[in-house]
Amino acid sequence: MSNINGKVIAITGASSGIGEATARLLASQGARVVLGARRLERLEALAASINDNGGSAVVRALDVTSRAEMQGFIDFAEQQFGRVDVIVNNAGVMPLSKLEALKVDEWDRMIDVNIRGVLHGIAAGLPLMQRQRSGQFINVASIGAYAVSPTAAVYCATKYAVRAISEGLRQEVGGDIRVTLISPGVTESELAESISDADARSAMRDFRQIAIPAEAIARAIAYAIDQPADVDVSELIVRPTASPY
Ligand code: NDP
Repeated sequence: MSNINGKVIAITGASSGIGEATARLLASQGARVVLGARRLERLEALAASINDNGGSAVVRALDVTSRAEMQGFIDFAEQQFGRVDVIVNNAGVMPLSKLEALKVDEWDRMIDVNIRGVLHGIAAGLPLMQRQRSGQFINVASIGAYAVSPTAAVYCATKYAVRAISEGLRQEVGGDIRVTLISPGVTESELAESISDADARSAMRDFRQIAIPAEAIARAIAYAIDQPADVDVSELIVRPTASPY
């Protein structure tokens, strides 16, 4: 019997890439999925496709940089289904560039989405999970949470932060609540489209040729959810076999 079947799973950044693949996979395994992102029409098309295939999906527009919107998203999930079993803090942006390019607004955006977004998800979901005496946070970091490379200093800093926050949360809430860090290597998605720096963009185009499908990361997320309640899969790195990084 799957431990995914029937679970209420809220996913941020569900409008493309890893979030979308995760929503499809978990819904196909019986989860009731709650989809959040800014591009509402993409979410609605995804939910229609899931529901047409016999799954259960609802959507809500969400900007994770707003604490109020994140709280509204989790409250909506609870209102729809009576509980929230898993929050997948997946939304992220990666506008790479060298520090000397001084794209300070893009640094701020990475900090706001990649770090504050995850913290907002924790703030919105933790009291509810503590009341339920069960729940799971799945935070999507990156191989950039383990090593730094040129053009990726700020992006990696945000992902190191997600790793630190996840480990701290795991230590504090252990008992009833599970915490899982999923760190993808290069994966097919729209992530590189946020790169405005021409050099970083063309380097990334070469780097991404070995990308694995987003569904590979979705399977890792499903594996972590599917474990029995007393088993916490704390960290998983999933990367292309051909990747040296
Ligand atoms: P995509 O660009 O395809 O997906 C990113 C998602 O985040 C979109 O659904 C986007 O939706 C959402 N998002 C961005 N900003 C916000 C915001 N302010 N509020 C709400 N949602 C937002 O890329 P991926 O699927 O690759 O990215 C998912 C995660 O995986 C990210 O955290 C990324 O850092 C991580 N990752 C990806 C890797 C890769 O190679 N693909 C490698 C390592 C980590 P919308 O624009 O509609 O709001």
